[in-house]
Amino acid sequence: MRLGLDIGGTKIDAVAVADDGARSPRPVHRVRLPSGFGTDEVLDNAVEAARRLSALTGVPLGRLASVGVGVPGVVDATTGRVGHAVNLGLVDTALGDELARRLGVPVRVENDVNAAALGAWHAMSLQGSIAYLNLGTGLAAGLVLDGQVRRGAHGAAGEIGHVPVDPAGAWCACGQRGCLETVASGSAAARLWPTTALHPARALLDAAADGDHLAVQARRTLVDGVAQAVRLLALTVDVQTIVVGGGMSALGDELMGPVREALAHQAAASSFIASLDLASRLVLLPAGLPAAAVGAAMAGAQADLVPVATLS
Ligand SMILES: [Zn+2]
Repeated sequence: MRLGLDIGGTKIDAVAVADDGARSPRPVHRVRLPSGFGTDEVLDNAVEAARRLSALTGVPLGRLASVGVGVPGVVDATTGRVGHAVNLGLVDTALGDELARRLGVPVRVENDVNAAALGAWHAMSLQGSIAYLNLGTGLAAGLVLDGQVRRGAHGAAGEIGHVPVDPAGAWCACGQRGCLETVASGSAAARLWPTTALHPARALLDAAADGDHLAVQARRTLVDGVAQAVRLLALTVDVQTIVVGGGMSALGDELMGPVREALAHQAAASSFIASLDLASRLVLLPAGLPAAAVGAAMAGAQADLVPVATLS
């Protein structure tokens, strides 16, 4: 049995999957807990999630094959250290070592978008190489190339949200101007369509569907940005499949329909782009699939990750 913990900004989504070598593991148990804030709370809650799954599966913690963790922020997957996970209050934390010591199990730590990419590749039984385009508050991609997560020399592979696309665009939290994330993300939707609604992207699409001219313009910006991200992934890593996930993927065809139209528009202007058939490579992450938690669990089986030593 392998456990996977997706430690998000507000909650830990944790699953147990059978360690039977299956290509598409199904979670056999799932628990959700608040993440907490700061090293002590996050560690305590992660340990509690692992304990609850251990009890549900009937497999003692020490008999688990591995525990994998997906966490937002800068992660050194080889050492299990988390450099910065601002939303969780973690700064240069030996997350892998600490969890391994408390649980008595080998622990692997992965960036959450990379974990979701790996989870999608496994759970959706995708062939070849994929990119997972996470449209959440921000925009980032995870890459699974030939079955292995591509992290890059500095863990920045797939961070396409910070590719500047508009020299006169809005300033980005990263310090650059006109990043892709400033036009194609949940935070971009909130900036383009100021609203008190809980889901600005939903409010924006609803207003555009009602024919509001400003909303139609804002939707065009958002949709073109997502289409740019798809084209960027195809032209840099030329993956077979681009899976769209993250909070905005819940908009479903209301978002993807216009994105496919934008891709068709790109193709109409360029026979080269047309030859790449981008729209056919685009799929939505199935609703309810805990991709990052499943991927964190499967990170435990990745041969290229050295398990953090168990100290207890
Ligand atoms: Zn940026």
